Amino acid sequence: MPRHGSDHAFLNREPYGAMSEPPYAGATSFLRTRYSRDLAGVDVAVLGVPYDLGVTNRPGTRFGPRAVRQASTQIAWGPQHPFDFDPRDRLAIVDYGDVAYDVGYVDDMLRQVEATADTIIDAGASVLALGGDHFVSLPLLRAHARRHGKLALVHFDAHSDTWRDGNYTHGTMFFHAMNEGLIDPARSVQTGIRTHNPETHGFTILPPETVDALGLDGVVETIKRTVGGSKAYLSFDIDCLDPAFAPGTGTPVCGGLTSYAALQILARLGGIAFIGMDLVEVAPAYDVGEITALAGASLAMQYLSVMAKDRPDRPAS
Ligand code: MN
Ligand code: MN
Repeated sequence: MPRHGSDHAFLNREPYGAMSEPPYAGATSFLRTRYSRDLAGVDVAVLGVPYDLGVTNRPGTRFGPRAVRQASTQIAWGPQHPFDFDPRDRLAIVDYGDVAYDVGYVDDMLRQVEATADTIIDAGASVLALGGDHFVSLPLLRAHARRHGKLALVHFDAHSDTWRDGNYTHGTMFFHAMNEGLIDPARSVQTGIRTHNPETHGFTILPPETVDALGLDGVVETIKRTVGGSKAYLSFDIDCLDPAFAPGTGTPVCGGLTSYAALQILARLGGIAFIGMDLVEVAPAYDVGEITALAGASLAMQYLSVMAKDRPDRPAS
């Protein structure tokens, strides 16, 4: 029998603990955590940003938050490999729901996302955002940099997203972020990049063949060395993965990372001072058997495990 009676997404009495209900039942909050806007004592608030007007090819990531939440129920049972603990036993996590904005008004989306992230950060919690196309990283970075100062960016993607262009798309937001002083290219790493961009802007770039040559430990070492002791923001564009592992996305590019490699790299990033994450670009209309959404949910859970790694289990109440 479920500990608190069904449904965990609403009735869990505290923001801790694994799901105790079947994965096919109940409301699909992220990892079946409690839907709540009460941020008292909360460590991580999961925030959906269903925005896809910044995409340059196939739209559909507005359904990303819903798809990732649904897929996450399949891994909501307990520890995720290679960890031997459940991050929900160590971190107080709530699903904050989605950001609402006036459709068609980019400025309103920017304002609402930034204000919502501000609210979460001001309450002492950190943001785990589910996109949406990658443009949503810009308002998220604005909120995080206001609190934490200029950030190191740990970025996984097929694309640099640093195109020198004044427009507001999912291919330009890190150029804006750099120009606004939100991120420091010298402390930032872009992994999986396999589309041409004549400018690096000083970012450390690890294309797939470099990932191959360095090996997983070498990639992790390079990321840690580059970031150093800086506060870091993790931004994972699901198209970093090869379309074999993530077909459900707007701008897929062949020759990418395996989900295995990405999960292993993330698992080994303990020690970096992460202050927030977004997982973006899941577009379920092009997905097959939920593999893209499941990869996204698993990567987000891996981040939570890394965040929880050095924390004690909260005693059961
Ligand atoms: Mn991207
Ligand atoms: Mn991309």
